[in-house]
Amino acid sequence: KITVVGSMSTDFVVTTTIKPNQGETVFGEKFATAFGGKGANQAVAASRLGMEVAIAGAVGTDDFGVAILNNLIENGVDVACVERVTHAESGSAHIVLYDNDNSIIVIPAANNEVKPETIKKFTQQLLSSDLVILQNEIPQNTNEAIIDFCWEHGIKTLLNPAPARFIADEYIKKVTYLTPNEHESAIMFPDQSRSEILAKYPNKLVITLGAMGAIYHDGKKEEIVPAFEVQPVDTTGAGDTFNAAMATALLQGLKMSEALRFANLAAAISVQGFGAQGGMPTLEKMKEQSQY
Ligand code: ADP
Repeated sequence: KITVVGSMSTDFVVTTTIKPNQGETVFGEKFATAFGGKGANQAVAASRLGMEVAIAGAVGTDDFGVAILNNLIENGVDVACVERVTHAESGSAHIVLYDNDNSIIVIPAANNEVKPETIKKFTQQLLSSDLVILQNEIPQNTNEAIIDFCWEHGIKTLLNPAPARFIADEYIKKVTYLTPNEHESAIMFPDQSRSEILAKYPNKLVITLGAMGAIYHDGKKEEIVPAFEVQPVDTTGAGDTFNAAMATALLQGLKMSEALRFANLAAAISVQGFGAQGGMPTLEKMKEQSQY
């Protein structure tokens, strides 16, 4: 059983060929909404892969919050531990897609209301979990409180440190798995080479390398697990699918190298569909692949 404690939001995506200058109004091409938030994305991805998944976090009492919860429920995610807060809107991301240039404004809103003391409301859920998955889209002190709690109770944790922020060494030691991408890993460990940090955290630190796959240290040597060669149409959510699939595979007893291969396959399928959740595969879809 997996519990994700993390963000849920709506992405508002505008496509335009003309970039407005300051004070200018332009006509764009397209508008779409999509479900997002790294917490929700990872919960949906793990559920589609057949895991029993619950999410804890917060949405507002607005219509966006209702839609976010319905989407999670439709994807088989247990939302009993999601709080509906009256003093903040549901989280949102406002994305403008230009030709080769995207700009994004994230409004965390309710996602910032997941405070350390709210853990009390889902203690039982954490205690009944085989793995708790976290990202960096809820307050840092809440993540720290959950990592401490899980550490004390012997519950495994996976921290996907995205977006990048500083994390004290104490917490890096306490998490079971840590999965930055290259950019996040460079920010988290500015003074150390990739090889040094991989060797320092064998079988814990997994750095994703985009179209190159993922790298970790197995205790004896570094190992790159190569990605699958595909034509990506939208890489949004690749990391989210990767994390959920890695967690799923490890919980099913696969070795790290096998789990990362499974994660690469799930992520490779996900980048061939639009939106973060659009391309996330089900287990059936995974089994249809010749590489499965
Ligand atoms: P993030 O999406 O968090 O920035 P990465 O870019 O490292 O993280 O991608 C995460 C994983 O998604 C990779 O380890 C890989 O398995 C898969 N992936 C990403 N881009 C591609 C691609 N172009 N082709 C195949 N797999 C990809």
